[in-house]
Amino acid sequence: MKEINIFHDAIKDVSAIASKIKAKQKMIIGYLCSYTPEELIYAAGFHPMRLFSSKSDIVLAENHLQAYCCSLVRGVLEDSLSGRLDFLDGTVFPHTCDSIQRLSDIWRMKGRYEFFADVVLPVKLNSESARTYMVDVLIRFKKDLEAAAGKEITHADLEKSIKKFNLIRKNLSKIYALQSGKPGSIKSADLYAIVKGSMVMNRDEVADLLSAIAANLEKTDAPVSSGKRIVISGSICDSPDIYTAIEEAGGVIVGDDLCTGQRWFEGQTLEDGNPITSIAARYMDRMICPAKHASTTARGENIVSLARKNKADGVIFMLLKFCDPHAFDYPYLKEFLDREGIKNMFIEMYDQQQNLGQLSTRFETFIHMI
Ligand code: SF4
Ligand code: SF4
Repeated sequence: MKEINIFHDAIKDVSAIASKIKAKQKMIIGYLCSYTPEELIYAAGFHPMRLFSSKSDIVLAENHLQAYCCSLVRGVLEDSLSGRLDFLDGTVFPHTCDSIQRLSDIWRMKGRYEFFADVVLPVKLNSESARTYMVDVLIRFKKDLEAAAGKEITHADLEKSIKKFNLIRKNLSKIYALQSGKPGSIKSADLYAIVKGSMVMNRDEVADLLSAIAANLEKTDAPVSSGKRIVISGSICDSPDIYTAIEEAGGVIVGDDLCTGQRWFEGQTLEDGNPITSIAARYMDRMICPAKHASTTARGENIVSLARKNKADGVIFMLLKFCDPHAFDYPYLKEFLDREGIKNMFIEMYDQQQNLGQLSTRFETFIHMI
């Protein structure tokens, strides 16, 4: 499908995307975490761009971040220090995991870009006071953006932005639902490309492309895959080869609990309420990540319900090495799945280096077993 190819082509060269955005005189604001209020950045007239590591060897970042920080933060810092992110005009760091918070400190001190903001969101997301606090933090971030943009972000700007992001999220959810209902409708590597592309490309273009892809997939009569139905869970997965390896091992991905997946795009923001309160509400109510807290069982219940809803034959936990928040949650999530008799496996990955041969064998063994 030509729209899917556009995503594949675009994500091969993020700096080419950046050049096109710059040609429209837009400032590019980078971010690393799915708690970044993209609607506010877009409403200010800026381009929100999720940062992924270019996967180059870590040399310069070695002086600032220990080897036991996750490869995402080390890789992105390396890209920044080596000038590969010079197209950025600024960056936003939501207050989430320790690695991102420490990266934020280093980033602020190195001061390479014009705009910098820490968005200190609440950690506990289950109280009214947290909701009030979240709203206050977003109002402050809006003011920071207004100062950088030299203009007020109006109610109309916010409404337009919320509608745009809702459309993107709605169509991504639709594509995932179509894939879960008719597995094999779309290749897993295509799913990866459109989700990643949606985080980095021009959002107006993304909204149009996704609408076309969702409409085309609804009509497609691609054969239903007989592969084992797999849900993946973890922080990020920035390797299309891993998705392909799961497919080649006899699996088909029918859902995920990833920051580069459903955790990022799920949920809609109310379009007719107070925009800031509505943006805060989506963050309060959506699937939480392990750097946040809703209850001692929220993530366990969620992974079981995700597996059940997608009729998963198995769950694959894919963690970046040294990602402490996800590693701490893993034993308890596994316990929840084991209790329900849902088969699961665990792998650790590096952004910079993959031993795909070994991983493929592990996927084959697991998929053969379930
Ligand atoms: S796992 Fe949580 S803290 Fe980490 S990038 Fe995702 S949303 Fe942010
Ligand atoms: S949540 Fe994990 S993978 Fe994401 S930035 Fe933090 S430590 Fe790294």
